[in-house]
Amino acid sequence: MQVFLDHAATSPTREVAIEAYLEHAHLLNPGGQYALGRQAKAALEQAREDIGELLGAEPIEVIFCASGTEADNLAIHGLWGNATHGVVFTSPLEHPGVREPIRHLAGARVVDMPLGRNNTARVDSELFRRQLVEYAVAHSAGDTVDIRFATCMMANNETGAIQPIADIARLCAQPPAVPGAGPQLTPFPLHVDAVQAVGHIPVDFHALGATTLAASAHKFGGLRGVGLLLAKRSPALHPLLTGGGQERGIRPGTHDVAGAVATAAALKEACSEIDAEHQRLAGLRDQMRERITATIDDVIIHTPEDDILPGHLHISFPGAEGDSLLMLLDVAGIAASTGSACASGVNRASEVLLAMGVDEPTARGALRITLGRTSTQDDVDKLLAVLPDVVSRARLAGMA
Ligand code: PLP
Repeated sequence: MQVFLDHAATSPTREVAIEAYLEHAHLLNPGGQYALGRQAKAALEQAREDIGELLGAEPIEVIFCASGTEADNLAIHGLWGNATHGVVFTSPLEHPGVREPIRHLAGARVVDMPLGRNNTARVDSELFRRQLVEYAVAHSAGDTVDIRFATCMMANNETGAIQPIADIARLCAQPPAVPGAGPQLTPFPLHVDAVQAVGHIPVDFHALGATTLAASAHKFGGLRGVGLLLAKRSPALHPLLTGGGQERGIRPGTHDVAGAVATAAALKEACSEIDAEHQRLAGLRDQMRERITATIDDVIIHTPEDDILPGHLHISFPGAEGDSLLMLLDVAGIAASTGSACASGVNRASEVLLAMGVDEPTARGALRITLGRTSTQDDVDKLLAVLPDVVSRARLAGMA
């Protein structure tokens, strides 16, 4: 059996999700104006209600779609709408699911939020506050500062660093006063990519005060192919797709009822386990951190010491190529990753690590180990038993 240490890429489907899916797979179109349609609609709306309750959202704010990437795209294009110009503040640590749609906003001026001076794994909310004021002073030639929206992830998929998202949300909802007689900042929307966070740390959409929030079922033991977008009623999101008007018109198309019910079942179980799993996984992760630094020379750990997801450990072994590490681990029966699931298989340095100020050769020697629900002490022991040899062999092979 392979040892699976790539839970941030996807997590094995929970039994409760498979059972819920099978039980509801026969349901038909919830839009049908007959008993079978109403039966499907009842199951769909129950799933929406359960998910809303678990994530601090009203049922109407829960939009079902097909992936975390889609939820991010619906939010970003939806908030941009028909704008032809304007500013978008974004963290430089975002996943491609956010970075790419922002890159495609024609006419957008994209401004990176500042990272901490000492801790580059996190956006610095105080520096962001100053950046907003400085931006307003410098760009207030007219009578408004045209900030369309901001985006920041809740937790990073590579390092596991939890971002100061509550502080950022407050700055977007209540922007700082701008000195002088120029225009003041007005509240602007915030999109939060919470794909790595939902089901792993507590998430409360209303308490956070974000405008939109993206999640993905397969990251918490639901099925691959179901995404969640939480979206406040206002501002109305401009739809990317048009059609039958399902999901408040934000995501039209016939529903995957069984997928929605399976997502609610997985999320319910994941949320009930957050505290116990946090303690268990953080213990295993700390063990790995200690043993790896004790047994292998020249190790650079990108995961901060605190305010982190419990299962992430992102490490560089300078002199080794990340892909060689993965291949050698795979031969030893261990599945891990170099970073973002979407970038693996391509021999490139992680953009997140580069944004954090890590030099390119070091970034190319990165290995992301992520634990999850099925991870055990035995998995960790197996990794620790082979890793020193894997790293020496990858270093002998050198950089491409
Ligand atoms: N955002 C983050 C932070 C992620 O880690 C991922 C997946 O790795 C995504 C978005 C995309 O989610 P999905 O795989 O469901 O499209």
